[in-house]
Amino acid sequence: MASSEPVREQANCLSYTIDAADTIVAVSGLWDDFARDNDGESIVAEKIMGQKLDQFIHGDETLMFVRTMIMSARVLQRPVYRPYRCDSPKLKRFMEMTVQPRSEGSVEVMHRELRCEPIACKIPMAAESSGAHVPFVKRCSLCNRIRAEGVWSEIDEAAEAKRLPAEVAPLKVIYGVCPDCLASRGVVL
Ligand SMILES: [Zn+2]
Repeated sequence: MASSEPVREQANCLSYTIDAADTIVAVSGLWDDFARDNDGESIVAEKIMGQKLDQFIHGDETLMFVRTMIMSARVLQRPVYRPYRCDSPKLKRFMEMTVQPRSEGSVEVMHRELRCEPIACKIPMAAESSGAHVPFVKRCSLCNRIRAEGVWSEIDEAAEAKRLPAEVAPLKVIYGVCPDCLASRGVVL
């Protein structure tokens, strides 16, 4: 966090606020730009207002982490933090999520980009819901590493080691949480 760059810091931050019943009641920041950049047209601000948060979080394990953070912030009545990755097809994006308790059980969830760097090999990926009929890799929602042939690694490393399924484009991914992130319990207090 560079205090000499307040404008940039703000530009890379987006947030939403949920009420005590986990309904999204406010969004701010460059949410719409972010959603479009990340192939998330369906989650632009106007469509998520008034909706339940759970609908927009994919994967049971990911949902568990977000819920744990929200519950921690509510119970502790202080902000909780967690670094995570939110890669775009071309960039490794190092992010931080902050859950800030507000009044009457509401919380504000802020996502801030800390830094980014290019991904060496650009492999198109698509979320797969079932995985029943196609080769797929599991991807950690928190650190964005993938599991291919039983090994958790960065996507570039997996490609270099030729662990990715051949002849599948885009690469099918199922989101979950890797053992390392699971062990960390997700919350930095
Ligand atoms: Zn992970």
